[in-house]
This record gives sequence, C-alpha cells and structure tokens, in this order.
Amino acid sequence: MRLILWDIDGTLLYSGGVAGEAMRAAMTRVYGRPASNDRREYAGKTDQQIILETFAERPHDQILAQLDEFAGAYMDELDQRQAEMAARGRVLPGVPAILAHLQHNPDVHQSVLTGNMQKVAAMKLRLTNLLHYVDLETGAYGSDHHQRVQLPNFALTRANQRFQPALSGSDIIIIGDTPNDIACGKAHGARTVAVATGPFSVADLTSHQPDAVLADLSDLDAALTAILG
Ligand SMILES: [Mg+2]
Repeated sequence: MRLILWDIDGTLLYSGGVAGEAMRAAMTRVYGRPASNDRREYAGKTDQQIILETFAERPHDQILAQLDEFAGAYMDELDQRQAEMAARGRVLPGVPAILAHLQHNPDVHQSVLTGNMQKVAAMKLRLTNLLHYVDLETGAYGSDHHQRVQLPNFALTRANQRFQPALSGSDIIIIGDTPNDIACGKAHGARTVAVATGPFSVADLTSHQPDAVLADLSDLDAALTAILG
C-alpha cells in the first residue's frame, strides 16, 4: 500500500481568490488586520504559519490562544462566500480523471496534505465535488501543526491506525505546486511530484529537484507515470 497525499490549493483546485478573501476578513476580525494579498507569499504555507508570520511581533502564545476563535471566524466568512466560491473556483485540468483512476487502484490510498485547516479543506473539496475521491481521515492539515514539514507524521500515524503492515515515509507520494511541498516530502523520504498549476513555473519547481514535474495533470498517462514512478 502506498499513501498518496495531495496538496489542495494550486494542485487540485483554485478557489478563485475567495478563500484568501475569507481568511483575510477573519484575520481582521480576530487579530485586527489582514495578511498580505500576495498569493505567492502564502504558497505552500500552513494557515497557522501565515498567521504567525503576519503577526511576528506578537508572542506566539497570544496568537495561538485565539486560533480557535480565528477558525470559527474563517469558517463563518467562508460560509458567507460559498456561492461565490462555487462560481469563481475551479478544479484544475485533469484532476477528476486522475483521482477517479487512482481510486480504483487497490495498491494506493488517496488523502490530502494541506496547509488548510481540516474543516476548510473539507469545505473546498465539497464545493468542487472532489470530496468523495479522498479519505480525509488519513490526511494532514494546517490545523495539526504550523510547519508543513511536520505534517507527513500526522498522516502516517493516522494511516497506520488503519493499515497493516505499517507505512513509512518511503511509502508516501506527495503531490503539490510549491517548493514547500517538495521539501516536505523529501524530508520524509517520500516520492515528490510537482505540478506547475500554482504560482510556480516548471523551471522554478525543477530547480528544487522533485522526482517528477508536470505542467499540469491533463495527460493521464504522464501523470500516472510521474506519480507511481
Ligand atoms: Mg498548494
């Protein structure tokens, strides 16, 4: 069994900027001002990390004490924008076809590894009709830890409560759109696949030496080869 961990934003879908707007509105409500509006600055970072970096001058304890309040405000802001996200958001090329194909492969199990908080991840996947392809129970989220590089441990622990024999880092395949996704996978000995459907180009991603790089996921055979090796 191999565990495929998909990044969400820029890899499976683009929320049309709606999630970023909701997040900045929630930050203003709870912390007094929003984060940067530059998409590239968020790329590959966890929600917690974005908040900690935005309010770097404040004590971490103080910021983390308001994290539950922030999560509630963020979900509230997203709830108000559901129709807008459904209208402006889009699934990236080839994504439903490859998720459906891999769902029928008995040697792999598909989940997500994302900087999004778990509830936010679930909402984005539901609004884009992708939720039924992945098992959120064996994933890892920005609500688990502020550093992305720690997240594979959470996914492995969850997967190993379910599967025998136990999986290790080399049984993981990480697919993402940023250098942070590649670094996170490499740190655990995972196979890493980069897709240039986010803010980074094929050349940008290639320089971080993932196991494979794709312009997008529209060529099913090329994507399967890149993912499964
Ligand atoms: Mg991403």
